[in-house]
Amino acid sequence: MKLQCQVDIVNRLLNNLNIRTSGKYLKSTLALAKEPKCKSDEKPEYVILLFTSINKTGTKYRVKCMKQVFCKCVNKGLTTLRFEEPPVDLCIKSEVTQLKCFLKLLKSCVTGDVKDLKLSDISNISVTATDNAPTKLSIRDRSQFPDKGLPRTLESLQIIGLKLHNFRRDILLLRNLVVLDLSNNEIEKIPPEFGRMPNLAELVLANNQLGNKPDIDWRWLFGPQIIQKLKLLDLKGNNLGELPKSVWKLQKLVTLNVDNNKLTKLPSTLGRISTLRYLTISQNELESLPCSLMHCRLEHIDICHNKFQLKKGKKECLINSPWNMYVGSLVHLASKVVLKHKTFYAPNIIPWTLVDFLDNSNMCVCGNPVVNEVFYLMEFDLKTFFNVVVFDNYRNSSVEFECYFCSPVCLVAF
Ligand SMILES: [Zn+2]
Repeated sequence: MKLQCQVDIVNRLLNNLNIRTSGKYLKSTLALAKEPKCKSDEKPEYVILLFTSINKTGTKYRVKCMKQVFCKCVNKGLTTLRFEEPPVDLCIKSEVTQLKCFLKLLKSCVTGDVKDLKLSDISNISVTATDNAPTKLSIRDRSQFPDKGLPRTLESLQIIGLKLHNFRRDILLLRNLVVLDLSNNEIEKIPPEFGRMPNLAELVLANNQLGNKPDIDWRWLFGPQIIQKLKLLDLKGNNLGELPKSVWKLQKLVTLNVDNNKLTKLPSTLGRISTLRYLTISQNELESLPCSLMHCRLEHIDICHNKFQLKKGKKECLINSPWNMYVGSLVHLASKVVLKHKTFYAPNIIPWTLVDFLDNSNMCVCGNPVVNEVFYLMEFDLKTFFNVVVFDNYRNSSVEFECYFCSPVCLVAF
């Protein structure tokens, strides 16, 4: 069996002398094999061969010289094999399933439980260039799909312009994937399981058909893993009529591109993404922006080709009852406290209706949470808030914001 992995070889003797060895993980292949038997009744001897791109002949480590296996972090794809002779530790990083399988085989070699163990003789093992696990793959033609399926070691995958209608489920198996680009296809739906991709940081879905169906299932975007890592989201050209209110859950998001859709409104929760720096919303049907955006430290915003009107900064009251502002219900008051202190909440602690209520809360111009839906349209110049503002050249950079107010004090102040 061969394991595609990264290995750091730590020499314990040098470490004891305080001489640091490389300390770098190198792309490697580990192969478990057996030495050819001298006599048929002799117990076979097992070895681990370590190949790297530099060391193509391989270094041999005898399984019987192995002193200890550290497998506490095997679920994170980490393990260390400690050898008595030579005095080295092989620190291994690999894909979890493959690593577990490798360790299981290794265990059978150690315990001698080798009934159905079929390993190649050492002489038959060699490492070909294709074994060296690929981490990048770009597919722009159907003939470029690898015969054996997508390599599990991929960190970057592009499948561009193939008119793919269905999301390829084998992508879900690529646990190391950091960058995924599926632009210029015809994908309408992404499975919810996609939200469990553990390392995905950049997702490009530009020019697909995600907005074609009226009720978009966004669960794939809010899986517990993906919200922890996603930094770039490109949903350009997808016919989207709206963005989900839960978009604020992407708490690592830095770049959001929703150009060329049919957005008439941005979610008022958008400003709760404190990491957001680059926002492009050109070629939509927006007439105003949520005031929560004023609290984002955007480096760049592009608002070209929308329906922003020019008005003369007058306050326009849409709907308002003073009761909403002065006297909130108990739910309103309690929710404000929860949001202000960023108290953790989840559906297993409080009813999901409340979770929904809290998730959808708005933000006052002062940054405090607001739980009612009353807003005023007020004009502000984007340049006073953000570094780079790209706008149509027939107008200035002032646009209307939907402003929520947490108290009469804030209303008067603005
Ligand atoms: Zn306020």
